Amino acid sequence: MITGNLSDFEERCLQRGTTVDAASACIVSMDGNTVTVDPLHPAYPKPTEADLNGPVFVRGTEPLSFAQKAKNFAKSAISHVSAGLPMCSDEEVLRRHDICLGCEHYQDNACTKCGCPINRNKKFISKLSWAGESCPVGKWGPASNG
Ligand code: SF4
Repeated sequence: MITGNLSDFEERCLQRGTTVDAASACIVSMDGNTVTVDPLHPAYPKPTEADLNGPVFVRGTEPLSFAQKAKNFAKSAISHVSAGLPMCSDEEVLRRHDICLGCEHYQDNACTKCGCPINRNKKFISKLSWAGESCPVGKWGPASNG
């Protein structure tokens, strides 16, 4: 499930050529301006090629240095190997990826907070696929299903 602002969901729908009304079947709950949607529901607006190949939102975060990115990614990789290489289900990768696509820290297929690549298609070198990983600002956490 993905929980966020209704206005963000509206923006996502428009970017993907649909409307909230047309995608309403994927809305699980709504409380004021907070909406929870099921990204696996057929009515959920799926990512477009543009989403997968470049930045969609305007970002304003200072970029990390290459050294810091390398350090953060190496730390994640070591942790992943130490834990026995647990992988996420395809559904969990999609769920994480969609959260990142709507995040203010996502830029050029990477996370500007930790510097890690964000790519759901490169299963073995993406933290989205590594079950024990988590978002540095708490938007998604370790997968329980491995
Ligand atoms: S890992 Fe977290 S902070 Fe980074 S882009 Fe994804 S949701 Fe945003």
